Amino acid sequence: MDGKYLSDAAHFPGGHAAGIVVPRAISEIPGIIRRAATVLPIGAQSSLTGGATPMGEIVVSTEKLTRVLDAGPSHIRVEAGVPVTVIQAALAEHGAWFPPTPTFTGALAGGIVATNAAGAATFRHGSVRPWVRALTVVLADGSELEVRRGERRARGRRLEIPTARGTVDVPVPSYRMPDVVKRSAGYHAEPDMDLIDLFVGSEGTLGVITTVTFGARAPIPTTALALVPCGSEEDAMALVAALRRDEAVAAIEHMDRRCLEILRDDGTDRRNGVSFPFGTALALLVQLELEPGTIEAQAFDQIEVALDRPNLDTPLARICRLLHAHGVFDDTEMALPGNTRRAEQLVAVREGVPAGVNQRVGRAQHEIDPRIAKTAADMIVPFERFSEMMAIYRDGFASRGLDFAIWGHISDGNVHPNVLPRAYADVERGKEAILYFGQQVARLGGCPLAEHGVGRNPVKQALLRGLYGDAGIDEMRAVKRALDPGWKLAPGVIFPEATEAAYRA
Ligand SMILES: Cc1cc2nc3c(=O)[nH]c(=O)nc-3n(C[C@H](O)[C@H](O)[C@H](O)COP(=O)(O)OP(=O)(O)OC[C@H]3O[C@@H](n4cnc5c(N)ncnc54)[C@H](O)[C@@H]3O)c2cc1C
Repeated sequence: MDGKYLSDAAHFPGGHAAGIVVPRAISEIPGIIRRAATVLPIGAQSSLTGGATPMGEIVVSTEKLTRVLDAGPSHIRVEAGVPVTVIQAALAEHGAWFPPTPTFTGALAGGIVATNAAGAATFRHGSVRPWVRALTVVLADGSELEVRRGERRARGRRLEIPTARGTVDVPVPSYRMPDVVKRSAGYHAEPDMDLIDLFVGSEGTLGVITTVTFGARAPIPTTALALVPCGSEEDAMALVAALRRDEAVAAIEHMDRRCLEILRDDGTDRRNGVSFPFGTALALLVQLELEPGTIEAQAFDQIEVALDRPNLDTPLARICRLLHAHGVFDDTEMALPGNTRRAEQLVAVREGVPAGVNQRVGRAQHEIDPRIAKTAADMIVPFERFSEMMAIYRDGFASRGLDFAIWGHISDGNVHPNVLPRAYADVERGKEAILYFGQQVARLGGCPLAEHGVGRNPVKQALLRGLYGDAGIDEMRAVKRALDPGWKLAPGVIFPEATEAAYRA
């Protein structure tokens, strides 16, 4: 058996499978599901939660379902195994693009729908969910279901779904989902909800997605990037609040002081021609979406005169004046439209942070204790509560004596607090801190599971349970039981099948 299918990007331990099937045609899938005892659908296995790690199921890989079925300036219909890069390339032929792109563009269409993936630009364009217009799903009994947005809605809290067994009545859970832009926290549930939203974010537990129609947008904007060093978190927050109000700003990423140390120690900043001034407390990477066709020379002219001509109302001139007003213009590094090389360097600096942290965790696992693992959270709070939450992350880690780094999508209020473990005890203390953060995030109206999903990760499953309570998890179980009474699809992903007693054992 090919070992490459036995783990995902989370390196979740213990992966094993009853078999691996790689169908070349969608028509093979219903038969595979009918015959199998249990099935785990997978995409690119870039999951950071263990959700794409098999635990004894038949793995159904969608990687060979790679046909683009239809594309135009406002939509694209693809098979589940089409990667995000191919979606963008196919749309580009029609002068269009798919805005909610996750950072990892090798992820497949089915995977990004199953996890309700999100990206840096979610702040401007939302997560994958609102972009899903139609799905074809194979249910646990092998029946195929076509779902188009707007066609089938719940009546209050009851959804009727046609299956091979007749119409199935699915109870919509009664928990209230946090009101934030990113949420990958179990089943979507609200009165009168659209059926399509039940499958988006269901992490393979309710059906195997075989085709997806996404909405798209035209024309493709030109992008520019600005890497902005800030002297304090307070200054950075004031700047971010102002930047969020400008419609040209699509995303703002941030890296804290420890992240910058990691970049320096690894030489990532120098290698990419970046140097942060002495006293930089954190850095922001601002992504702008500009009128298509904006070219570097024209952009350069706008920057040159932006400060002298306060009436010049182009996005670049506005942003430059804003950076100047916040005292950071002189230290800002820009990648102007069309300067792909500079843009790649600035993006490489940002990507050097998770790479550097993961490398350190891997080294500690190898050199100190094999039980050491990535210990990280993926949480979101409403932007107005962000500073408060950052203080809670920092105090929660520091009071437990932990070394840590925090980075992420500050424009959404979504960051990834990560422990840098120096001993196995740090992992245990880190998990305890993350569970505490989950309570605080919920208190502040946020969601402790923002974009990566829940998967098989015990801490993420505990966070979900903390968010919706045992009753909420039982309501999710009732949804699954209605559609998958034999518990065939992705068992153990999002929540365990077991009853409370077995859950605690
Ligand atoms: C470097 C890196 C950066 C990342 N950045 C982001 C980011 O910016 N935003 C973000 O949201 N995530 C990010 N991720 C996480 C990951 O890329 C996403 O969760 C992605 O959506 C998973 O897609 P995939 O095709 O790899 O699915 P997989 O990992 O293979 O599967 C994920 C889950 O979806 C289910 N699934 C997969 N395909 C199907 C299908 N056809 N039908 C039903 N269920 C299915 C699986 O059972 C599993 O539970 C990142 C990961 C890495 C490694």
